[in-house]
Amino acid sequence: MIESPLLEKLTGYIGGRWTDNAQGNTFDVYNPATGEVIAQAASMSEDEVKAAVAAGKSALRLTSPYSIETRRKWLEDIRDALKANKEEVGRILCMEHGKPLQEAQGEVDYAAGFFDYCSKHIQALDAHTIPEKPKDCTWTVHYRPVGVTGLITPWNFPIGMIAKKLSAALAAGCPSVIKPASETPLTMVALFSLMDKHTDMPDGMVNLVMGKASVIGKVLCESPDVPMLSFTGSTEVGRKLIQDTAEQVKKLALELGGNAPFIVFDDADLDAAADNLIANKFRGGGQTCVCANRIFVHEKVADAFGEKLAERVNKMTVGDGINGGVDLGPLINKAGFDKVKRHLEDALEKGAGLVAGKKPEELGNDLFFPPTVVTDVTSDMFCYREETFGPLVPMALFRTEEEVIEAGNDTEFGLASYVFTGDAERAQRVAAGLRFGHCGWNTGTGPTPEAPFGGMKASGIGREGGLEGLFEFVEAQTVPRGF
Ligand code: NAP
Repeated sequence: MIESPLLEKLTGYIGGRWTDNAQGNTFDVYNPATGEVIAQAASMSEDEVKAAVAAGKSALRLTSPYSIETRRKWLEDIRDALKANKEEVGRILCMEHGKPLQEAQGEVDYAAGFFDYCSKHIQALDAHTIPEKPKDCTWTVHYRPVGVTGLITPWNFPIGMIAKKLSAALAAGCPSVIKPASETPLTMVALFSLMDKHTDMPDGMVNLVMGKASVIGKVLCESPDVPMLSFTGSTEVGRKLIQDTAEQVKKLALELGGNAPFIVFDDADLDAAADNLIANKFRGGGQTCVCANRIFVHEKVADAFGEKLAERVNKMTVGDGINGGVDLGPLINKAGFDKVKRHLEDALEKGAGLVAGKKPEELGNDLFFPPTVVTDVTSDMFCYREETFGPLVPMALFRTEEEVIEAGNDTEFGLASYVFTGDAERAQRVAAGLRFGHCGWNTGTGPTPEAPFGGMKASGIGREGGLEGLFEFVEAQTVPRGF
């Protein structure tokens, strides 16, 4: 079992206090590196979720809103608490997710960055008067908190994803009811321990509910006191939330799945492209929404690029991320492992060639999947059509710019994309042609607190980060004054 001063309670947090878990229902939390149960967290009832919504409602202040200074202080306090406890939060994150310790601690810094950004830009949410005087009135635009928000997060960034949502919600003055993924609730509990100890937010401003997604999701979708949901996770669940909230026309912010193209032209710096691909693809064990999923390499440089990838991949170490010197941890669970294996089997059966890694029959029974590269991938393969979410690098060859833009867009998703070329004009054309919310040019880097990030098409609605993300949790209200 995991021991930590930040995990003294493994229950929900409602109205400023830890809940009792009166019914005694729990769910197991595993360390994917060892297969051991490391904690049992409270699985909450429908009534408790409703109590969390009620607590949020009591903390919402519309007629006498929390001042910008008050909200800024909350954000600064959370940022400082995360930075001061980066090692311990990162250790908990590493143990429940499996990503290498250093990477897990880096995620805590990343999370702190969102609270920092919102604290520094919160003034943008202040009311302003527009310079024109249309209709003989003086027009003031106010940014009102949308209300109590439901924040639902995935397991792949246990602290990063909540930081994006919570920082903007608090900046807007919105109370929230937060549901972490059931694979990784402990990092969220640690965050609540820090907020409990190091901030003086009013009771009910932040509420934690854990347990069955069906129970929690139903209350959040059906309650008229929750006018907005912000969700990060699969497109499948995102679609369900759209349907389940349609009746009430709730505001939705959705960060959904990806199928990122990573395009390498023949004039690219191949070493830099290979280094960037390794850093991008294997972060979080290949389980990020911005991981390159289809690698398009110009046919003239395909062999050379494949060799560079194999050279790098063969040097990577796979193991329990809590130990130093590990590049790649385990996959999150058996279903995740089986999906990557199925994609590899399917690709090899349909004619792809193995450039690095193991054959499916050589894989072990644990959750460690070795970094794997396959080439000659075609559009009928699972690894091309679906989000693999694992350390499999599928290379497909292309000849022309037009062909690769069309192939890159040949997916329902539109989250992250990457293009490597030495030709600036071509980079601009390709970026404009790719229907993706993010297009890295000669970099495999993903989101940052300072810039808006989000998906086109089935990858989502809305943006997190940057000024656009800061405005996600407010409703603009105009007050024209006649006399
Ligand atoms: P998931 O299965 O959709 O789950 C995400 C969250 O939704 C979890 O907390 C889950 O709870 C909850 N949930 C499931 N069914 C629900 C329902 N009916 N109502 C309300 N909540 C429900 O996704 P995941 O496997 O955790 O995450 C991986 C996916 O997230 C990938 O597709 C990835 O691309 C995407 N992602 C996108 C972004 C982005 O920025 N666009 C970032 C990160 C990840 P339980 O855990 O209890 O089931």
